[in-house]
Amino acid sequence: MINELEKDIDRILFSEDDIKAMVKKVADEINEDYAGKKPVLVALLKGSVIFASDLMRGLVIDCEIDFMKVSSYSGTQSTGVINIVSDIRTDISNRHVIIIEDIVDTGLTLYKLKELLAGRNPASLKICTLLDKPSGRKADVYADYIGGTVGNEFIVGCGLDYNEKYRNLPYIGVMRNS
Ligand code: 5GP
Repeated sequence: MINELEKDIDRILFSEDDIKAMVKKVADEINEDYAGKKPVLVALLKGSVIFASDLMRGLVIDCEIDFMKVSSYSGTQSTGVINIVSDIRTDISNRHVIIIEDIVDTGLTLYKLKELLAGRNPASLKICTLLDKPSGRKADVYADYIGGTVGNEFIVGCGLDYNEKYRNLPYIGVMRNS
């Protein structure tokens, strides 16, 4: 069948095999750090869904997953606030929590989300992201587990969208004319 999406992709940054290797690297680190700790993965909708499900299958430790959808209001850089569209149901007090993100860009969303979840008294709180875009950072927030790093370009695929499109691409690429 004709791939309806491929024509919009200028070049592939990470192939399916690259993504598999990045997921395995992160899963191995989490397996080692969380053995016996039964962490709760908090996957951010919608972008992290594919990464989160790939990552879970690479985990050999006892763990749980829950989902959260937040939207950010830009405002000024330092006062960006987030709105919880859909919250987790899991009580995370005294639990080891790992936020699962698709890509950290400005970091404003995660900065605020970390603050919010920290207020629920987890035993620990870390961030795991498939990709990091350090050149976009505006908030003082860093991921503890990072699959790969990208430059200052807009990418799609493997959960990452452009107007809800391209999430189902099995690879990560740069859009034409982006
Ligand atoms: P920030 O770190 O700026 O608060 O927000 C990160 C979110 O912005 C990501 O979860 C993702 O939804 C979106 N984002 C940032 N960079 C990109 C990109 O290159 N491509 C896509 N598709 N989304 C991005």
